[in-house]
Amino acid sequence: MEKVRDLYEFAEELREKVDIVEYISQYVKLKKRGKNYMGLCPFHPDKNPSFSVSREKGLFHCFGCGVGGNIYHFIMKIEGVDFVKAVEILAKWAGVEIPKYKVSKEKGEIFNLHEIFTSYFEKLLHENKEAMNYLKKRGLKEEVISKFRLGYAPEDISFFLKEKNIKPEIFKKTGLYPFSHFRGRLIFPIFDTVGRVIGFSGRTLKDEEPKYINSGESVFKKREALYGIFQAKDSILKNREVVLVEGYMDVIMLHQNGIENSVSSMGTSFTIDQGRILKRFADRIYICFDPDTGGIAGTKRALDIAETLNFDVRIVKIPENLDPDEYVLKNGKESFFELLKDAPDVVTFLWSEAEKLHKNDESAVPLVKDLIEIAKRIRDEAKRFEVIRKIAERTKFPEDIILNEIKRGKKKKKRDESILEQKDLLEREFLSAIVKNEKFFSIIKDEIDENYFFTERYRNLYRKITSNLTKDVLEEDFIYREMILEDNEISEEVFFDIFRRFKLRYLMRVKEKIIKEIDEIDKEDEERFNYLKLKLFEIEKEIKSFLHKKEV
Ligand SMILES: [Zn+2]
Repeated sequence: MEKVRDLYEFAEELREKVDIVEYISQYVKLKKRGKNYMGLCPFHPDKNPSFSVSREKGLFHCFGCGVGGNIYHFIMKIEGVDFVKAVEILAKWAGVEIPKYKVSKEKGEIFNLHEIFTSYFEKLLHENKEAMNYLKKRGLKEEVISKFRLGYAPEDISFFLKEKNIKPEIFKKTGLYPFSHFRGRLIFPIFDTVGRVIGFSGRTLKDEEPKYINSGESVFKKREALYGIFQAKDSILKNREVVLVEGYMDVIMLHQNGIENSVSSMGTSFTIDQGRILKRFADRIYICFDPDTGGIAGTKRALDIAETLNFDVRIVKIPENLDPDEYVLKNGKESFFELLKDAPDVVTFLWSEAEKLHKNDESAVPLVKDLIEIAKRIRDEAKRFEVIRKIAERTKFPEDIILNEIKRGKKKKKRDESILEQKDLLEREFLSAIVKNEKFFSIIKDEIDENYFFTERYRNLYRKITSNLTKDVLEEDFIYREMILEDNEISEEVFFDIFRRFKLRYLMRVKEKIIKEIDEIDKEDEERFNYLKLKLFEIEKEIKSFLHKKEV
C-alpha cells in the first residue's frame, strides 16, 4: 500500500537535499563572498549586491529590502505561488517524485494564509521606522530579524484582506483573529518543527498591557509550541543539546550571538508536550530561565518534566540578575558558553537551593529533610549512596538514619520507578487522558473494554473507572492520583491520535494471536480452523475499516 505522507515532512527532507545556491542561481547571478553568496536582489531595485544566500544554512536574506527565508519562501515569492505549489516546483526541479500527501484542506488553507500574512508583516516592518528603531535599540541585527521573520501588524487589515480576497469567515479561523489584539504590534510568527507558521505573538510598542498577546487556542496549541524550534533544530541535532529559555527575545538574542540551539517554552511553564517534541532532537537540556522567583519556580517544574522524560538536565544560572538576552548582549558568546559549561546538574542545583532556603534555620532537620528528598530522586544506586554520605557529612546526621528515612519512602519510590520506566507508555497516555478529561472518557467508553489493556495495573484502573466509583475511592488508587496531578492536558486532536493508536494496537495484537493459533493448530480440527479463519476475516475487516475512518 502506498504510504500517505505529510507534505510538510516531505518538504523538509527535500529542502535538505537540494542546494539553495544552485537553485537561486537560476534567477540571480551569485558571487561567493566569504561563507555566503551575494547578488543583486530580485525583489527590489538593487544597485549594490545586497542579496545574500547561505548554502550552509539554506537561507537567503536581502539587506536592502529585508526579505528572507528558506528556498520555499524564495520560490513562493519569485513565482508568486503558494507553499504546496512551491514544493511541487522544487521537487520537479530536483527530479524527485512527490509522494501521495495529505494536507487537510482547511488546515492547509490556514497555513497558507499565515504564510501570506507573515510575508506582508515582514514588509511592513521594514517600512516602519518606529518598530525598526525599537528592534535596533534592543540590539537586534537585520539577519536575525529576517531569520525569525519578525514583522509589524498594521492598524487596519481590511484593505489587505480585500486585496488578497480573503473572506472574513476564513480569516476568523486564522491565528490573527481577533485582529484588534495584534494591530500596531511587533509580530513574532511562531513556527512548528517543519517551518509552518502555526501562530503569532504580538508585542506592544507602546507599553500597553499585556506586553505580548498570542494567537487564540483554536488554531494554535501553546503548550505544544516551542518558539524558535524550526530555526534551532539543525543546531540542536549537532550535539543533541538544547538551551531552553523563557522569552522570545532571549531566543533571538542567543541565536544572534551564535547560540543557535536555543528555544523558548513560551512563558515560564514548560509542558510535557513541549518536552516530548524536544526529546526527538535532544538528549541534554540546559534550563536557562530568568533569575526572578517566577523563573525559579518555573525551573523546578521544568526540571521535573525534563527528568521524567529522561533528559540529562543542567541548570544555567545567569549572574548579575540578568535575563539571558541581556546577559549575552552584555558579555558575549564565549561568556555564555562558559555558563553552559559550568551549569550544575539537578542534584547540585537543588542542593544549593536547599542550602539557601534553610541558611537561617536553627534546627538542621528542615535542611536534612529537603536533602533527603533530593537523594530520593537519584535512580543510580551508587550515586545515591554518595549523596547520602555527603548529606551525613554536611548535617552531622548519622548515615543509617538518613538511609532509613529513604527506605521508608522507598515503597512508593519503587512504584514511581516502575511507572516511569514501564514499557507501555501508550496505555498510560490513553488512560491518563480519559482520567483527566471526562469528555474524552464519554467518547470512548462504549468502544473500549478492559481487555484492551494488556498491562494489569492499567486494566485494573480502567475497571475501577468504568464501575461508577466516586472520586474519593478512585483517588485511593496510586496511579489515578498521579495521573490527576500530572499537568499534561492534551488537545482533542492529540487524544484522537492516541486513541487510534491504542485501538489499532489492540486489533493488531488480536490478529497476531489468531494467526499464531492458525499456524499451530491441528489442521484436522476443521471446525476450529474454520472458526479461526472467520475470526481472522472479521478482525481484518475491522482493522481496514478503522484505518479508513477519518475521525473517530
Ligand atoms: Zn531586496
